[in-house]
Amino acid sequence: MAANETIFHRIMRREIPADIVYEDEHLFAFRDIAPQAPVHVLFVPKVDIATMNDLQASQAEVVGRLVVAAAAYAKREGLAADGYRVVINCNDHGGQTVFQLHLHLLAGAPLGHFGVP
Ligand code: 5GP
Repeated sequence: MAANETIFHRIMRREIPADIVYEDEHLFAFRDIAPQAPVHVLFVPKVDIATMNDLQASQAEVVGRLVVAAAAYAKREGLAADGYRVVINCNDHGGQTVFQLHLHLLAGAPLGHFGVP
């Protein structure tokens, strides 16, 4: 794998299987292998950005597209009225384990509040 390669790049190239639920020229989305809610989908940009710390101001559209795609997915799947949560983990304290920027969409049940466990 190249230096900035992650498992998500391999999923995008269909080298390893995943349940891909959405794709366009900018991003793709697939079900998390270890879901933390009844619906747990990851939205990943096709441009290489390791963490939120690496996001440039000029790349604001990258995150905007992830959010818009997640909201559209929630509407399509009938999740919007009940609601959902979106999360971007960053580095160690954020619990990031895959170093390609991604947004988690969690839905399908009341998620409670959040904070330090
Ligand atoms: P992070 O902890 O970096 O915010 O989120 C990474 C997510 O990727 C985790 O929720 C983890 O379950 C998911 N994940 C890791 N490897 C795979 C994989 O091979 N396939 C899928 N579908 N999800 C994965």
